[in-house]
Amino acid sequence: MNIATPCKLIHPDNQLASYQVAVNENPHNERPPLQGARSKRAIGNWQKFWGHGRVLTISFMENLPVNLKQRIERLIRQWEPATNLTFKFVDGVAGEIRISTTGDVSNSYLGTDALLVPSDLPTLRLGIAPDHAEFDPTVLHEFGHALGMQHEHQHPAANIPWDVPKVYEYFNLHHQWTKEDVDNNLFNTFDANTSLNGPYDKTSIMHYVIPNELTVGDWQAGLNTKISKLDRRNMRKAYPKP
Ligand SMILES: [Zn+2]
Repeated sequence: MNIATPCKLIHPDNQLASYQVAVNENPHNERPPLQGARSKRAIGNWQKFWGHGRVLTISFMENLPVNLKQRIERLIRQWEPATNLTFKFVDGVAGEIRISTTGDVSNSYLGTDALLVPSDLPTLRLGIAPDHAEFDPTVLHEFGHALGMQHEHQHPAANIPWDVPKVYEYFNLHHQWTKEDVDNNLFNTFDANTSLNGPYDKTSIMHYVIPNELTVGDWQAGLNTKISKLDRRNMRKAYPKP
């Protein structure tokens, strides 16, 4: 099977600005530090969800065929009922979420980090051909990040039996990822305090495809193609309806 390049979440360089913009947008993003020492491998102790009840603007940076635009919009709107946001598609580079379909990688900034991106640059990339089997799941996955959702395989309770040396080797060989890229996108778990306290969900759209050869023993994760029940529940927790 032709597996798409896994998505890399983009982290802004300026962590202080990231924190300030998140808390300014939505005061609920602030979370008190956990009691005692936080895990060294944890990803950060605040969340990046958009302000409750707001209109979130979304635009396409390139001129796409109308049917492709509509297809992407329909996929993105699958998230909308689980939030308290209104998605508004606007023209050109006017969106707070700016989608580019050029290149061959798919990635996104996490939630409010998009506000730190210069307005002539994309905040979400779909570097995958529309006829690829993973196109639709990729749109759902990347927009999950745009709404503030992290990678599910980095859930603190995931306990994936990684074959660590093999994973570094595989991602370096196939995707030219550094050790840091692998740590940031596979091994580091997110803080239990920012996990919305939901259980680990192997069926999440935010989970990577994980081939059996990258784990010790018999463990793999196939391609999830839909927003799962727990994904919706997490989204409703992040964006509660009044
Ligand atoms: Zn991702």
